[in-house]
Amino acid sequence: MVNGYIFDLDGTIYLDNQLIDGAAEAIRCLRERGDKIVFLTNKSISTRYDYLTKLNNLGIGANIQEIINSNYITAKYLKQRMSKTDAVFIIGEEALFEEIADENITITDDPKKANYVILGWDRMFNYEKINSAYQAWVHNQATFVATNPDRTCPVYGGQIPDCAAMIGALEGVTGQSIDLIMGKPSKFAANFVVNEVLKMDPSKCFMVGDRLETDIRMGNENGLNSVLVLTGITTLDMIKESEYKPTYTLESIKDIVDMKNMISSG
Ligand SMILES: [Mg+2]
Repeated sequence: MVNGYIFDLDGTIYLDNQLIDGAAEAIRCLRERGDKIVFLTNKSISTRYDYLTKLNNLGIGANIQEIINSNYITAKYLKQRMSKTDAVFIIGEEALFEEIADENITITDDPKKANYVILGWDRMFNYEKINSAYQAWVHNQATFVATNPDRTCPVYGGQIPDCAAMIGALEGVTGQSIDLIMGKPSKFAANFVVNEVLKMDPSKCFMVGDRLETDIRMGNENGLNSVLVLTGITTLDMIKESEYKPTYTLESIKDIVDMKNMISSG
């Protein structure tokens, strides 16, 4: 039986620039038996091609169609939803601009012409950008769309603020919740990967990741099998405390092939 495996990247396949022991062999083994593979990350400051290069350099063969990030899901969603006369104002980094431009979506730097504001992780975020987004909202009732809901991103030695910091700033000035949040754990991300990329029944898909509130939650809420790996930020104690219980828990991705080392199930 062919299954689909959706792998988170950081904490699941690698930690920073270090491949997790056994990851390359596990993925090779799944491919050899005919399973389908997708890599899915929320991180919006790198392009899909950056991840392709990184995976290839770490010894994991992949092609670009298998690599999905929150920018790509956002661009594909907006392309379907927007009309030709619509325009977006973007808060984010170069990778996000590139992905939106690749879909031939009109990008404007004039907030009064924007009826969508896209928010991604932006390490040059400032007051001027908050004001621009606010003016698009006031003058044009712009729809706010964020690439991902992550509060922080793990980095070597700690964590740094992620897209939720930008979301919080805009929710602060409008007094309203943001309209749409793409990426994990949203149904947009799950539907896109399952229906558009894997093209499989969700019950045959396994979402494999290290974060309960994104990876595992998305799997559970969208009819996928969820698999937590303990090589990232989650400990066994955290599973007990969380409302998002994985279907399977593994020490590491290297156990994915037969799951015989499964150490708990929810
Ligand atoms: Mg992760």
